[in-house]
Amino acid sequence: MRVFISCDMEGVAGIVDWEQVRPGPEYELGRRLLLNEVNAAIDGAVRAGATEVLVNDSHGAMQNLPPDQLHAEAGYCSGRHKPLYMMEGLEPGFEAALFVGYHGAVGGPSSTLSHTYNPSAVTAVTWEGHLLGESGINALVASHFGVPVALVSGDQHTAEQARPVLPGVETVVVKRSVSRLAASSLHPAVACRLIEEGTVRALARLGELGAPRMGPPYQLRVQLRTADLAEMATGVRGVERSSELEVLVEGADGLETYRNFVTLLHVTRIVAQEI
Ligand SMILES: [Zn+2]
Repeated sequence: MRVFISCDMEGVAGIVDWEQVRPGPEYELGRRLLLNEVNAAIDGAVRAGATEVLVNDSHGAMQNLPPDQLHAEAGYCSGRHKPLYMMEGLEPGFEAALFVGYHGAVGGPSSTLSHTYNPSAVTAVTWEGHLLGESGINALVASHFGVPVALVSGDQHTAEQARPVLPGVETVVVKRSVSRLAASSLHPAVACRLIEEGTVRALARLGELGAPRMGPPYQLRVQLRTADLAEMATGVRGVERSSELEVLVEGADGLETYRNFVTLLHVTRIVAQEI
């Protein structure tokens, strides 16, 4: 069994501040907490029979894990400008995808360090009227390759926001957000145990879970912070303006839609930084 893990960082137990997820004095602590949660998921995958595990580092500069301390059973995809970004490395033949350390969507309730890909450009993303977090957007790729998303870990809102497009997904709530910069977390050791157990449970019921079913039509509704950003986004393939601050991102399939969305992120990043 081949298992794919996409790990973010803001949804890890004990993490509540940007200082813990960006290079600086607090970053080492954040990295350690993340590493332990990722290793717990790998432990669970191996216990459930995984013969190959690939971890795709999906946070920030995407090189947050010390490779020599990652579980020896896992491969590690790290670094920037990966065409499939948070889903780089997934392909047909993987039997499950796990999302570890995920966080709440921008435009939803207060969730620790919530955002949706680019906090300075994107203010909400919806799919068929449901607010999507990164789990739902990334599910487009899993859906395209026919791979079930078996587990999502993070705070309570991350779990709720995953369900509309990932019905039946195993969710592990490792902290309860109090505000965007406060949460009540499980002890990291307990969080790791729950992630490991949740992974074992999730991988035992892949048959009933199945791959996410998304589209057609393949359409993300994306709200941007300014009209400048919305205008710039229309230069991207598959993107049409639907109102002053909103664009529709479309594609022939889930993969193309995701890639068009990723290109929109890259293009708007330049302008977003200057706002
Ligand atoms: Zn992140």
